[in-house]
Amino acid sequence: MNKKKNTSYIRLIIQILFLIMMPGLFTLIFGQLKQIYTASIKGNFELGRILPMSIEIFILIPLTIMFGRFFCGYICAFGTINDLIYKFSSNVLKIKFKINKRVDKFLKLIKYAVLLFIVIFIWTLGNKGLNGLNPWDAFAQIIQFPPSVQSILSLCVLILVLIGALFIERFFCRYLCPLGAFLSLIQVFRIVRISKNKSNCLNGCNLCSRSCSMGIDLEKIDRVDSIECIQCMNCSAGCLGNNAKVSIKSKTINEVAVMLIFVFTFIAFRGLAVSMINNNTSKIDTVSGATRTSVGIINAVADALKQAKK
Ligand code: SF4
Ligand code: SF4
Ligand code: SF4
Repeated sequence: MNKKKNTSYIRLIIQILFLIMMPGLFTLIFGQLKQIYTASIKGNFELGRILPMSIEIFILIPLTIMFGRFFCGYICAFGTINDLIYKFSSNVLKIKFKINKRVDKFLKLIKYAVLLFIVIFIWTLGNKGLNGLNPWDAFAQIIQFPPSVQSILSLCVLILVLIGALFIERFFCRYLCPLGAFLSLIQVFRIVRISKNKSNCLNGCNLCSRSCSMGIDLEKIDRVDSIECIQCMNCSAGCLGNNAKVSIKSKTINEVAVMLIFVFTFIAFRGLAVSMINNNTSKIDTVSGATRTSVGIINAVADALKQAKK
């Protein structure tokens, strides 16, 4: 099996495992972000109260600052669903659609506007009437079975997202996801980098750009600094000239090792935080209505969803 296939199979296995085990993590984390934000602006942010019910976001923020958007590349269920839809459309339906680079760059800005919109109009001003416009509602409904369609508007967003995913890889992640926008903005001290010496590239190759899941143009660069990068490793693993490399603090590392570092660090920190909190308190989680030990993440997700809609 070649390096590209090997790496992409391992990534797919990781993604599917997270999709099965933690399908609601993206919704939970966005709900936690909302709680931290609203508690902060209302002046009632108490770390001791917020931390036990927001473990995931407290772990994800520092890890994203260091590792970049690995959550999007490996852990987020909706990212995986976008990948699966795109794989189906390109391999089975043979849909080949190419978006204009300029249009793609422009559309990528929409997700930052969506995040700003949610923060200002829904989280800050508490405009409940605008909840239907929140693509997160459509996002959450995809993993709920049977789907509870709350409004025609959010159903339209859902349909748009699904159709978009057939034509453009990671459609929702590229253009609409507010959590993706947030994670993009915080990865300031990224130590995991992909570099390629463009002068060593095979003439006219550009395979890395063509295989980039986020449509980042890699042709004229020596190092990937784009905040759109989700650390999927398609570019480095697929480089025919073995010219694109992934490194941690300038030390070249094998792609699979980096993937395992991403996911095991997240799992280890989360496990450690949950067990520390469980050791320190058996109090009922005021947000989820469930103890971390008893009911776990599914109820926490359901309640975080309710909170997010308030
Ligand atoms: S951009 Fe959003 S939907 Fe896509 S993988 Fe990241 S958090 Fe998930
Ligand atoms: S795939 Fe490798 S050789 Fe081809 S353009 Fe990218 S870095 Fe250069
Ligand atoms: S630059 Fe490479 S690692 Fe980043 S999203 Fe594109 S293909 Fe994936």
